[in-house]
Amino acid sequence: MSSNKASQTSAYYKEPGPKLDKESPFESMMERFRFAADILKLDEGMFQYLARPVKQVIVSIPVVMDNGKIEVFEGYRVIHDNVLGPSKGGIRFAPDVNLDEVKALASWMTWKCAVVNVPFGGAKGGVRCDPKKLSQSELERLTRRYTANLLEVFGPDRDIPAPDMNTNEQVMAWIMDTYSMNQQRTETAVVTGKPIILGGSQGRREATGRGVVTCTLAALSKIGMMPNKSSVVVQGFGNVGSVSAELMYEQGAKVIAVSDISGGYLNKEGLDIPAMIRYMKENNNSLEGYSEADKISNEELLELECDVLIPAAKEDQISRHNADKIKAKIIAEGANGPVTANADSILEQKGIMVIPDILANAGGVTVSYFEWVQDRQGYFWTEERVNRRLNRMMRSAFDNLYKVSGEYSITLRQAAYVYAIDKVAATLKLRGIYA
Ligand code: NAD
Repeated sequence: MSSNKASQTSAYYKEPGPKLDKESPFESMMERFRFAADILKLDEGMFQYLARPVKQVIVSIPVVMDNGKIEVFEGYRVIHDNVLGPSKGGIRFAPDVNLDEVKALASWMTWKCAVVNVPFGGAKGGVRCDPKKLSQSELERLTRRYTANLLEVFGPDRDIPAPDMNTNEQVMAWIMDTYSMNQQRTETAVVTGKPIILGGSQGRREATGRGVVTCTLAALSKIGMMPNKSSVVVQGFGNVGSVSAELMYEQGAKVIAVSDISGGYLNKEGLDIPAMIRYMKENNNSLEGYSEADKISNEELLELECDVLIPAAKEDQISRHNADKIKAKIIAEGANGPVTANADSILEQKGIMVIPDILANAGGVTVSYFEWVQDRQGYFWTEERVNRRLNRMMRSAFDNLYKVSGEYSITLRQAAYVYAIDKVAATLKLRGIYA
């Protein structure tokens, strides 16, 4: 790759025009994709190839409900790309799932896998349903029929699902069992995020937060800061947020504020994170009522003076409306899409280093890859080995993107897209187009 700062006038770059108040994560992703394609001078044919999924499947899922009546649900599986290897991506069950959303999330997975150098393409799936209204046995029948309808898509060498919104270890176990029954052999490597007893991996639950922290420590060292002299703010206290907060606390950082859906909790002297995790677990997974801190709003939390801000709740949290009020030195995107594309340049002008989601939260897919490797070997690693290899891959991905960002004088986010798109395009060129 040769050094070349992007001009914003190429065929790919569309003038953003007046921005809507809320940008969809897909629009944000496409804007960044176009910018990187422009830097790489990607030819039009390659651009068109990478902008579209290679396969989109819509299935009808008839389910006999507990009351004896048939209900028909719609399910999707989109493979954005599979030139780097079998495609990989979660399955979500939600009332508003639609093909466009699944397509966007599938392409996101392609870039994420490329950034951390796991040999997977990108995919995503979903079923439009309200899981809260389904009984456990209805959920099982829905999952098994969805899997049965996609038997020709899924496979350990073809396409490997994982959990996403409202799907969990149990859903993965049903998918694995349905696929295995049809193959007449146990095939654990067809899904990841399984229960450990069924071939899941040690360390998977903490993997995303652990990856966020590995990147954060690397970024702190680049700006010459010691973790034990740094102050940290975390938005969201679920899987990603609570693990990130706990591991930064263990590094000696002062975690001054965290939040969940009930609001923010601030203590400038530093919060007792292990105590907050205990409190949350005993309090129905909520921090509501935690009294050893001052209560603040989620908006105030984002604007606190701190060294590291980890948004780990949901998308669109930092936009052009509040980007100029952010005072952190480093933002590590634990969530997918917490910063909108139109906030990128504001944060860049303020000199804030943003570790982009497709790098920062890729620890989850990295340990999913380890799970797939272990299942195929039939040999399972200790948690210590999983964590060591995860840290190594995340650190090397961070260092690599840091180098690319220096080479092109671009941000880490732009570097992530440039690196990922260049890698997939180069692989495709070598493989050629099958005719
Ligand atoms: P989770 O459901 O375990 O936790 C979400 C947390 O965010 C909860 O504490 C919730 O109370 C809080 N929250 C929700 N809305 C909020 C708001 N408006 N303000 C403040 N807090 C709010 O989810 P998770 O698995 O930790 O995922 C969080 C984000 O990370 C999502 O964007 C997800 O897509 C992304 N992500 C997760 C993984 C993973 O392995 N779990 C991997 C990659 C990316």
